[in-house]
Amino acid sequence: MRCLGCGEECDGLLMGWCEVCRRAMFLDVETTEDGVLLGGVLTSRPGRATWYDAEGLLEVIRALHIGMLMGHNLKFDLQVLARAGLEWDVLWESLPEWVQALDDTELMAYCVGFEDLRLKALETQELGLWHPTYKEVKGSGRSLRLSAVLGAWSCS
Ligand SMILES: [Zn+2]
Repeated sequence: MRCLGCGEECDGLLMGWCEVCRRAMFLDVETTEDGVLLGGVLTSRPGRATWYDAEGLLEVIRALHIGMLMGHNLKFDLQVLARAGLEWDVLWESLPEWVQALDDTELMAYCVGFEDLRLKALETQELGLWHPTYKEVKGSGRSLRLSAVLGAWSCS
């Protein structure tokens, strides 16, 4: 069965989520220039992420059963999801302790004194990583629709 978060084939899924993804997920949404949700990426481990289109991302966010949701400027991502139809009470119920369950790497970077808080700048500067653009993700990334995963989930 495939994990809803990382898309990995895993034994022992709980509510559709593997053990690693149940601890914490990192979210990054992509929008059009005028802020309309195109889709987003969820990841729980280095080198592994799952791209969802807008509809699939809203479905998987509604099915969250995780300990912590992180993002870079997470407030923006959550606002985009709310405009796209995510109900706050659904997210509230899926996270164990609302305030403690959200974390923002942009705020962390600000608190430790970085001047350039852009994710692409920080990941390149601090980790030597490269962050693909939406076009690069969409063109080469894997699309995993929740509906494809729900079949396996409903069997668990
Ligand atoms: Zn997983």
